[in-house]
Amino acid sequence: MDNCIFCKIVRGEIPSYKVYEDEHTFAFLDINPKTEYHTLVIPKAHYVNVLDIPADVFTHVTNTVKTVVDLYREKLGIENVQLFHNAGEHAQQDVFHLHFHIVPRRAGDGQNCVWPKTNANLKNVFEEMLEKIQATPK
Ligand code: AMP
Repeated sequence: MDNCIFCKIVRGEIPSYKVYEDEHTFAFLDINPKTEYHTLVIPKAHYVNVLDIPADVFTHVTNTVKTVVDLYREKLGIENVQLFHNAGEHAQQDVFHLHFHIVPRRAGDGQNCVWPKTNANLKNVFEEMLEKIQATPK
C-alpha cells in the first residue's frame, strides 16, 4: 500500500520509535501517546482491521501484543494495561492499517477512559439478539 502511513513505517520510509520487530509484526510508540509507552502493534503486511486479516496473521499480532506487554512488565514493572483495537470508521479507526493499542496504566496517570451509558435498555433484547446469531439462549 503505497500511501499507507504504517506501511511506510514498516518499510523505514518514515521514522518511528521501534519497540519490537519480528518476521510478521512491528511495534512502535504512538506519536500522540495517552500515557508513557503507549504502543501500537501492527502486522507488517497491510490489512485494514480485524475484519479482513486472516486468523493466522491476526494471531501473530496478538502474540506480539503479549510479548510487548510482558516486556513492559519485566523492564518497567507495568502491572496495569488497556488494550484496544478500533475497526472501522464508526468504531473510531483513524489509520486504516490494523493496529492494537497498548496503553500502560499507572495510578495517577491522569487518564480516565469512560464510555457513556446508553439510554437503551439492551438487557430487554438479549434473547432477540442471540436468536439473530442462532445461539441458544440459556
Ligand atoms: P486509531 O484511531 O485507533 O486508528 O489510532 C491511530 C493511532 O495512530 C493514533 O493514536 C495516532 O496517534 C497514531 N499515529 C498516527 N500516525 C503515527 C505515526 N506516524 N507514528 C506513530 N503513531 C502514529
